[in-house]
Formats: sequence, C-alpha cells, structure tokens
Amino acid sequence: MKFDTIIEPFRIKAVEPIRRTTRNQRLQALQQAQFNPFLLDAEDVLIDLLTDSGTGAMSAEQWAGMMRGDESYAGSPSFRRFERTVSDITGFRHILPTHQGRAAERILAACAVDDGDIVPNNTHFDTTRANVEATGAEALDLPAEGATDPTVERPFKGNIDLNRLDRVLTEDSHRVPLVFITVTNNSGGGQPVSLANIRAAAELCHSHDVPLFLDACRFAENAWFIKQREQGYGNHSPAGVAREMFDCADGATMSAKKDGLANIGGFLALNDDELAHRCKNELIRTEGFPTYGGLAGYSLEALAVGLREVLDEDYLRYRARSVAYLGDKLIGAGVPIMRPPGGHAVYLDAAAMLDHIPPLEYPAWALSATLYLEGGIRSVEIGSVMFGMTPDGTEQPAPMELVRLAFPRRVYTQSHVDYLAEVIEYVHSIRHRIRGLQITDAPRVLRHFSAHFEPLGDALVAGDGDE
Ligand SMILES: *Cc1c(COP(=O)(O)O)cnc(C)c1O
Repeated sequence: MKFDTIIEPFRIKAVEPIRRTTRNQRLQALQQAQFNPFLLDAEDVLIDLLTDSGTGAMSAEQWAGMMRGDESYAGSPSFRRFERTVSDITGFRHILPTHQGRAAERILAACAVDDGDIVPNNTHFDTTRANVEATGAEALDLPAEGATDPTVERPFKGNIDLNRLDRVLTEDSHRVPLVFITVTNNSGGGQPVSLANIRAAAELCHSHDVPLFLDACRFAENAWFIKQREQGYGNHSPAGVAREMFDCADGATMSAKKDGLANIGGFLALNDDELAHRCKNELIRTEGFPTYGGLAGYSLEALAVGLREVLDEDYLRYRARSVAYLGDKLIGAGVPIMRPPGGHAVYLDAAAMLDHIPPLEYPAWALSATLYLEGGIRSVEIGSVMFGMTPDGTEQPAPMELVRLAFPRRVYTQSHVDYLAEVIEYVHSIRHRIRGLQITDAPRVLRHFSAHFEPLGDALVAGDGDE
C-alpha cells in the first residue's frame, strides 16, 4: 500500500446525536449519581467508554439479517446459519447459543465443575470467577510474570503461567475439571495470549486428561495480535489464526457482545458428546430450546454476520489502531498507562498518576470521576473499589489502580479519540489537585456497581470554587 493512514473501514449510514453538557451540569449529575459513574444517566455522557460489551454498531448486513430472522421456536434457519458460522470459525461439534457469555459459563460450570475443584485461568473475568466459585470450586488466576506491572512492555502479556499450570496439574489434576484461557486477557489489561502459549497449555492439559476451554470473547482481537506479533503468522488470515487457537482447545465460552459485533448473545461450544448432552439439558432448563438458547432469531442472524465481519483484516487493523492511537498519544504526553495498549481498551495507571492518593482513598475511582467532570467521558475503575473488598468484609488494596477506557466497536471516530486525548492530558496536568474519596454506602458484593461516594475535602478537584 502506498498510503499509511489507517482509516475507519466503513462509512456512516445512521447517526446518533451525543449531548454536550457544561461542567456545572456534569458536577450536578455527578453529585446526583453519588460520584459513581455507573449511576449516571447515559444521556449526560458525551463519550461513553464504560464498556465494549454490547455497545458496538451493527453493519447494514447485520440489520438486513435482523429482518431475515426466523422466530420459529425449534429448528429455525437463523439458528442453522448461526451454528454453521460458529462451527466454521471454531471447528467445535456442539454449538449452544446463550443470551450472553455468563450464561455459557454458568451452564458449563454447573455441568463440569464440583465443590472442591480448582479451575485455573490466565485471569478470570469477574463473571467467570463468580460462576466457578458458585459451585464451591476455587477460581485460580495464573497470569504470566510481569502481567501486573503496567510498565513492562511485552507482546503477549496475557499468557498463562505454564510453570504454575504444570505444578497445579501435576499435584492436583484430579481436582481440575477444566482449564480456561481468556483471550484476550480482559482483567489483565486486554493483553493477548500467544499461540505458542495456548498450544503449550493444551499439551499440559491433555497430558493430564484435562480439557482446555477458551474464554473467547475477544478471539478475533487476539488472533490479530498473533498475526502482528508472533513469528510465523504474518501471512496467515485472522480466521486461520483463530482456527488454530480453537483447534488447541476442547471447547469455548463466548460473550458475543464483544467480538460477535452484536448487542446481545453468546455461546458455549464443545466437542465432548456426553458433556454437551448434559449442557444442552441445562440450557433447556434455564435459557431455552437449543436452537435459540434465550436469543431471538434476529439476534442469531446478527451474530452469524457479525462473527464473520469481525475477522475482516481491515476491521481488525482499524480496531487495533484506534486503541493504540490513543495509547501512543498518552505515552507521548507522559501520561502513565498500562503498556502496551490492549486490544479493546486503554488502561490509565492511576497509582502512578495520582501517587498522592493512597489506595484506600481510591485513586482510580477519583480519576474516573474527574474524567467525567472535566470532559464528559465515562470510564470504569479497575482498582480497590472493584477488587478491594475481601470475602470476610475487610478492605485490602487491589494489585493495580487502573481506569479502563473501553472502546465500543465501530462507534467513535478519530476526532473523538483526539478529544479523549486532550481531556486526559488536561486532567493529567491538574492531577495534583484531584482528591480521593470515601465510600458512604455500599453492598458487600460487587460494590462498584452501586456504591455511593463523597470526595474527601470540599471538592473532587481542589480549588474548584475559584474557577
Ligand atoms: C464480558 C465477558 C464475559 C461475560 O460475558 P457477558 O456477555 O457480559 O455475560 C466473560 N469473560 C470475559 C473475558 C468477558 O470480557
């Protein structure tokens, strides 16, 4: 190619206005939301980076598929199209649709995991952890070395620690019903896992007769990073790389709200006939008949199209670039972030940026709230509010204080990202004036969703009254 600019590989057919607010309006909105971005009205948010889950824009082809959707209770042709797509991409024998990823996790856990078991994962996503723990099993995180150090620059920071996996399997394989690898590693910064790592983990698992499952929410983004970064895959298609990933595994759970490019949906896919039979019965009991699994026929159509579109090279190049573009600008401006930028999100390192705020005054939460106050940007704290509460009710600092800026797919353009960079650089310049917060009211479990806060001192940003 003669030209270097990576463009959004689509043009825009329908637009959705976003609403500007004044700083005063945002201060009021924040106060009304008890300084919890989850409690804001989305209409008061200018750029919403709370999550990349179910927030993407569908293509014209997906909308056309929605019209084709067949709502037959059993044997719908929409299911057949969905099933064919998933089995083409993954190669798995049994494809069970679910309404989202956590339903697939719950069904698999109910049918395969028992009290006292251990389920290793590079890093459990919070719903995966909750579904494993609900059976009485231990959800064991085995991230590779360096994964929790934001400054360590490695191509495959999402890898599972093979030595520790080997140890668990050697010592306790009878207690390990399955091993998960999450691609990309969402909780670990959206970092990819290499094919060499997946393959080596699969060999370890299989030598102990333990099945390997992929938590495949961002399988296409992971495949793209392998193509870009792993020796020998530069000429492979993303679909070819993805197939090699799935070929190492015995099954997968997926939230299709991510790399399914749809607003709702998920699946459980697996090869084991007997386990699939049990999972199907559980699916019927809790989600729906196996040819719709809790989804409308039109959603199955949207997924059948989206799962193919997500593997398009131009899409993936644009996707990775739009995240890295923000990451590069911030690194250039001296803003501390988790390095390298992930596949779906940039993670600001609030512990480094706000080192005057101790962990239990929630620096990442304060940074997230300030981004909204100053620029109308909504993000999510991944720090001591989300992970600081232990099961026995005491507080402990989380290993990292991050603010995740998750990019919805095909939604924002480069000028939105330029604006983001400008706001973040401004907030970085006033960082010394940002105050910590205290929690005034919170549930014990998953408290970040609904906790109430107030700033320590007279304002979130000191000197606010003088402006
Ligand atoms: C989103 C997500 C899930 C859960 O999927 P839902 O569709 O939200 O239920 C599981 N694992 C990972 C890695 C995720 O990102």
